[in-house]
Amino acid sequence: MSEPTVVTVTGAGGQIGYSLLFRIASGQLLGPDRPVLLRLLEIPQGLGAAEGTALELQDGAFPLLAGVETTTEASRAFEGVNVALLVGARPRGPGMERGDLLAANGGIFAPQGAAIGAGAADDVRVLVVGNPANTNALIAQSAAAGVPAERFTALTRLDHNRAVAQLAAKTGAPVSEIDGVVIWGNHSATQVPDLSHATVGGRPAPDLVDEEWIADEFIPRVAKRGAEIIAVRGSSSAASAASAAIDHVSDWVNGTGIPDRPERWTSVALPSEGWYGVPEGLVSSFPARSVDGRWEVVEGLDVAPEWQARIDVSIAELEEEREAVRALGLL
Ligand code: NDP
Repeated sequence: MSEPTVVTVTGAGGQIGYSLLFRIASGQLLGPDRPVLLRLLEIPQGLGAAEGTALELQDGAFPLLAGVETTTEASRAFEGVNVALLVGARPRGPGMERGDLLAANGGIFAPQGAAIGAGAADDVRVLVVGNPANTNALIAQSAAAGVPAERFTALTRLDHNRAVAQLAAKTGAPVSEIDGVVIWGNHSATQVPDLSHATVGGRPAPDLVDEEWIADEFIPRVAKRGAEIIAVRGSSSAASAASAAIDHVSDWVNGTGIPDRPERWTSVALPSEGWYGVPEGLVSSFPARSVDGRWEVVEGLDVAPEWQARIDVSIAELEEEREAVRALGLL
C-alpha cells in the first residue's frame, strides 16, 4: 500500500468532527486506494471527546486507516500534513461583539496557520469550516509563511449543496441533473446563491422558476437554512456540513469533471486574485472547477446588476471583517 496521506482535523471532538472522521476513515475523502493517517487536534476541554472518537475509529476496523493520533499541540498536528480540515472555532457567546469573535478566532487560526507554514507537506490543502470561515481562512493564510495562498479555502459547499437541493425539489428534477449553481461572497447571511447560470437537465433554470420564488423563497431559505435546521432538529447541522467538507476536498483532489460533464463547477471560497471585481486577497466564494488538483475560478460569467448589488453587500461585509482583523494586528 502507498504511504498514508496525513489528514488533520481540528475541533475533532465536536459534532462535525464526529460525522467527518468516519467518512474520511472509510475512504470517502480521498478515494478507495488512499490510506490515511488521522491527526485529531483539540483544545484540552475537547481532548476526551476526541480520544473517545479515536477509540471508535479503531473499532471501525477501516482497512484504509493507517492510524489515529490525538493532540493539543498544533505543531504536532500539522507536521507533514497533506489535508488540513480546520473545523474547531470559537462560537459567538452571549453578548460577544463581532470584534471579540474575530479576536478569539484570530487566537486560534493565526497559530494554526503558522504551524501549517512551519510543518506542512509541500502539497498541503487547507479547508476552513469553523466560522467565520472566510475570515478565519484569511487569518490562517496570512500566518502561513511559504504556503501559496491558493491552498487556503473556506467552505461554501454546504450552501452550494443546499441551493442545488432546493432547485431540485422545486423543479422535481434529480440533483444529478442540476448544474451551474453559484454561491458568491461570504459564508454568512449575506451570501448570494445565484441561479442565473444554473441548468436543470440542460434547460436554463430561470426558464423553469420565477423571479419571485428566487428572491422571496430560494435565496432566504438557502442563506438561513442553518437556523431552520436548529429550529427543527434542536441542534445545529453537523452531518451535512461534514458531507460538504468531504465533497469539497474530494473534488479538489480528484477533480470536478465527470465523464458526461467535464465542465461542471462547484462553489469554493478562496483568496481572490481580483476575479469579478472582488478585492485581491479577500477569501470569497466563486464558481470554480478543480483541474489537475488545483482550483480554477470560472471567469467571464455575466452578472446582472441585481445580482451584483447583492454580491456587493457580501463583499463589503468581508472587507469590514478584514479591516477588523487588521486593526487587531492579525494580518
Ligand atoms: P461543530 O462541530 O458543530 O462546529 C464547528 C465549527 O463549524 C463552528 O465554528 C461552526 O460554526 C462551524 N460550521 C460551519 N458550517 C456549519 C454548519 N453548516 N453547521 C454547523 N456548524 C457549522 O461545533 P462543536 O461545538 O460541536 O465542536 C467544536 C469543537 O471544536 C469542540 O470540541 C471544541 O473543543 C473544538 N475547538 C478546537 C479548537 C482547536 O482545535 N484548536 C479551537 C476551538 C474549538 P457556528 O459556530 O457558526 O455554528
